[in-house]
Amino acid sequence: MDSSVATIKHVIAEASADLRELSLSIHSNPELSLQEHHAHRLLTTYLESRNYTIDRSPAGLATAFTATYVSPAGPDGLHIGFCSEYDALPELGHACGHNLIAISGVASFIALTAVIDELRVPGTVKLFGTPAEESEGGKILMHRAKVFEGMDALLMLHPGGGFEMGGYSGAWHSLAVQSLEVEYFGKSSHSALAPWMGVNAGSAAIIAMNAIGVMREQMHPTWRVHAIIENGGKANNVVPDYAKVSCGFRAFTGAELDTLRGMMLRIFEAGALATGCTHKVTIEHEYLDNVDNDVLGAYYEELMQEKYGVPPFRVDAGGSTDFGNLSHDFISLHGIFPLVGVKAPPHSAPFAEATKTESAHECALFAAETNARTALRCFVDPEFWAAAQKSFKERKMPGPPLV
Ligand SMILES: [Zn+2]
Ligand SMILES: [Zn+2]
Repeated sequence: MDSSVATIKHVIAEASADLRELSLSIHSNPELSLQEHHAHRLLTTYLESRNYTIDRSPAGLATAFTATYVSPAGPDGLHIGFCSEYDALPELGHACGHNLIAISGVASFIALTAVIDELRVPGTVKLFGTPAEESEGGKILMHRAKVFEGMDALLMLHPGGGFEMGGYSGAWHSLAVQSLEVEYFGKSSHSALAPWMGVNAGSAAIIAMNAIGVMREQMHPTWRVHAIIENGGKANNVVPDYAKVSCGFRAFTGAELDTLRGMMLRIFEAGALATGCTHKVTIEHEYLDNVDNDVLGAYYEELMQEKYGVPPFRVDAGGSTDFGNLSHDFISLHGIFPLVGVKAPPHSAPFAEATKTESAHECALFAAETNARTALRCFVDPEFWAAAQKSFKERKMPGPPLV
């Protein structure tokens, strides 16, 4: 075995017990977006104990951090970073496995820095602690504040189900997503004594929901629209004067998302027009589609295939991530790794259970090793790095065109 690979494996194996402790502690203390103080404290304390330079609130975000390593040969080679996530979901806890993403980022980071130390290759390696992936989009806030400025490549990992559910991928094209809220304002009245004097905001919400249903005929197969009526009225004998719809919609590219947004805004207006309500749309976070660098992705898949012996999975649509916004500005890889044997998708209760098992831990650490090796190849193989740069400059959007 190549001595660099041996170093990567050794460093991760040696840290495994500590990383497992961090992962389980994050798992048993699930924290929502921008409230990840426990995870933030754990991770920064651990990284500081390993003598990295820590910034505890980049972009003014109390639960973000950066850890920086500069090569003894100088900082001026490649600048490569990994991202960790650690936010949880309401009710479900760590059903997206961000406890594993947290430690996989740390593992890749400490392993790569150990090899750079040995090889004396100039350059800088960073770990970005990125809060609020499930909502708000911490990476977007950090990107706007220029926290990623100067980076040449960014890598991260995300767990998925076992091979029955997909497996691994270094070419995951996530969907661009827009979240918004729509409020309808009507007029209350007694539902039996004088219903004709009311303006029913709940009905406006229902018309919008039905319009979404019929408009699916005109939607591209890769689009997703998911809406709920958060508030449709409080008592059946009162005409509701207020209703609220929360909606997320997704498309294959940012341009397609613009088209879909236009459709959705007309739909929500239709609810108001039909009922005589007024309405207010509050636009929330927007994540762009994720486009993995195909050179980095192919190497990641090659290493994963060596271990698992089955080919990578390909899907024409999937979830979304705030890493997508970074993928348009940096050479990047959002590797998906399998939790072997797990037959449930992320965002489900069984997946939350699965992300704390010893087996999931081993899968996360193997993926971290793979990502460290992918990043290392950028440092030591100029042809590989040149190909990654070329691919980034020339890349075409994969997936079906919008017709
Ligand atoms: Zn998630
Ligand atoms: Zn996730």
